Amino acid sequence: MKTVPEYFGSMVFDDRVIKAKLSADVYKSLKKTIEEGAALNIGVANAVAAAMKDWAIEKGATHFTHWFQPLTGITAEKHDSFIAPSPDGGVIMEFSGKELIKGEPDASSFPSGGLRATFEARGYTAWDPTSYAFIKGKTLCIPTAFCAYGGEALDKKTPLLRSMEALNKQALRILKLFGDTSVKCVRTSVGPEQEYFLITKEMYDKRPDLRSSGRTLFGAKPPKGQEMDDHYFGVIKPKVAEFMEELNDELWKLGILAKTQHNEVAPAQHELAPIYTTTNIATDHNQLTMEIMQKVAAKHGLVCLLHEKPFAGVNGSGKHNNWSMATDAGVNLLSPGETPYENAQFLLFLCAVIKAVDDYQDLLRISVASAGNDHRLGADEAPPAVISIFLGDELTAVLDAIETDTPYEGTKKTQMKLGVDVLPKFNRDTTDRNRTSPFAFTGNKFEFRMLGSSDSIACANIMLNSAVAETLKIYADELEKAEDFEDGLHKVIVDTIKKHKRIIFNGNGYDSEWIKEATEKRGLLNYRTTPDCIPHLTDKKNKDMLTSLGVFTEKELYSRCEIQLENYCKTVIIEANTMTGMAKTEILPAIEGFISELAKTAKTKKAVCEDITCAYECKTLKKLSMLADSISETAEELENILITVKGTENIEEEAYLIRDELITKMNELRVSCDQAESITAKKYWPYPSYADIVFSVK
Ligand code: ADP
Ligand code: MG
Repeated sequence: MKTVPEYFGSMVFDDRVIKAKLSADVYKSLKKTIEEGAALNIGVANAVAAAMKDWAIEKGATHFTHWFQPLTGITAEKHDSFIAPSPDGGVIMEFSGKELIKGEPDASSFPSGGLRATFEARGYTAWDPTSYAFIKGKTLCIPTAFCAYGGEALDKKTPLLRSMEALNKQALRILKLFGDTSVKCVRTSVGPEQEYFLITKEMYDKRPDLRSSGRTLFGAKPPKGQEMDDHYFGVIKPKVAEFMEELNDELWKLGILAKTQHNEVAPAQHELAPIYTTTNIATDHNQLTMEIMQKVAAKHGLVCLLHEKPFAGVNGSGKHNNWSMATDAGVNLLSPGETPYENAQFLLFLCAVIKAVDDYQDLLRISVASAGNDHRLGADEAPPAVISIFLGDELTAVLDAIETDTPYEGTKKTQMKLGVDVLPKFNRDTTDRNRTSPFAFTGNKFEFRMLGSSDSIACANIMLNSAVAETLKIYADELEKAEDFEDGLHKVIVDTIKKHKRIIFNGNGYDSEWIKEATEKRGLLNYRTTPDCIPHLTDKKNKDMLTSLGVFTEKELYSRCEIQLENYCKTVIIEANTMTGMAKTEILPAIEGFISELAKTAKTKKAVCEDITCAYECKTLKKLSMLADSISETAEELENILITVKGTENIEEEAYLIRDELITKMNELRVSCDQAESITAKKYWPYPSYADIVFSVK
């Protein structure tokens, strides 16, 4: 049997293969493209394509695809085989540089938010050489960006790459000011921790709600949920262990650095964390990870649920986006240094993140907004919809001392005066763990915890990179003009702390007192739902920032706003339709079945013994009868609202209607059905209960 180092990355056309299969010249120019974004000439592309094809065929591949990430949230692929007819009636295997660099899938069925006029359905995909090609099944997958014919981005990768470039440009200006002229580029790195649920396929198949919407739309709370905290980091069950083993194997073959796995808080909930890597690669890898999780689960008779809230009343699933910035020499710009000078540079980058998060709270909130994630962020669950930064006591004290020009009460009292040479030296480990903060500094990186488990991490990182790039740009503009760099630096840092310290909060983020303080005293934003925040994507300040950095065009922003609202509406409408269907065709008949049994029993009892009360039967029967009436009535009202929703032309209005009326009615219907479930004999209930589902995997 092969060892992990022997098969790790065996399905990836990575640096090892590129080096072995390409001439030194071709390798060098490809490297230049990968590392510095230099244009690729067709000669090199042809050589790379030929090597890629030979390698892929050796590994059993017959097809290739441009693999891309349209705005549906999942990945897309259209497979072409390598075959080309040869004159003798046979075939040869072909793959050209042109085919590698550019593809032209029909774009008409992907969401474009009006960007793609109907007369021009074509879009094109363009190779992203910074993310390695890989083999999935029998197909060579080439990571690509996806654009409309007019050049507008129709995917998540294009703006992500643009945002990385924007941050690179501005960070380099700052580093130059600190005297670092050797650095070639600054990249952001991400390590996304992925949460998910595993249940048996048997249970899944019995739940129309899970099948059509990924979450349970009904279900009374189980007698035992996560109260005992006995699942978190608990022993991994054999079935789950088998799943994880195969998952790791598959991910490792694809060069994905799957590192940590453990049980999460809720029963049936687990987590997988990879080792961090460059943001666009981490994004591709996370998309692949989600896809492979589902495939491997199916092979084990399981279903992997990536929905943010598969079960009401049970912890939801998120994704923690661990984010940092590092130079090509491997220097982490968010790592406190050993010397006061390094510390000054660290503090400036830290301040840039603080200011960016405060100035663009709305964009960060928007980047994680979806109907599914509203169940976490909008409810009283972790993390809240209000964005704040956890810095830890020590770092907060350092910033306080700098702001007020007072001694820093750290390990040694240090007077804060002007100039970098007196910035305090503080400990590297400032990581008091605060799990309730939506945006936490954890020693050498920030952990953005608001992402939903099914989100592409591209969206959050596009906004994070852009907001920080914008702040670094403002800093660089000011510092390049400063007469004295150290004075200028001190001023920038003090000004940032003064103006943006409202975003720093080290306390309990779940606390309702905090939400009150955040919104009333500190003026922080609290967009509880998707329709609350999405329209702000095109607010002037956001439009100005994102277009001036070249991350989005104005047209792209309007189209994305529309697509996100559309996705929200579609999702909830599917759920509402599923609910009415379940209520009318399965739940009501089940209740009626039990009612009639109760009636029969009571009648039989009375016949035997006249003075018997039949209290249980009567009480339950009456209650169920009332619930049945209310279920039928509410389902009808829900259908009427759905008709109004369908007739609404304006997408924003539609989203508000869904938020205010449709969802309220869905909740009402659920309450009655769940009450009925809790008093109906189990043999009548058409669906497995919460307990059946979450404890289904042995
Ligand atoms: P936790 O206690 O939150 O699980 P870990 O130290 O295990 O924290 O890291 C969680 C994730 O953060 C991992 O994916 C890890 O690779 C990633 N990570 C660590 N350092 C960095 C960094 N400098 N930049 C980005 N991600 C990082
Ligand atoms: Mg974490």
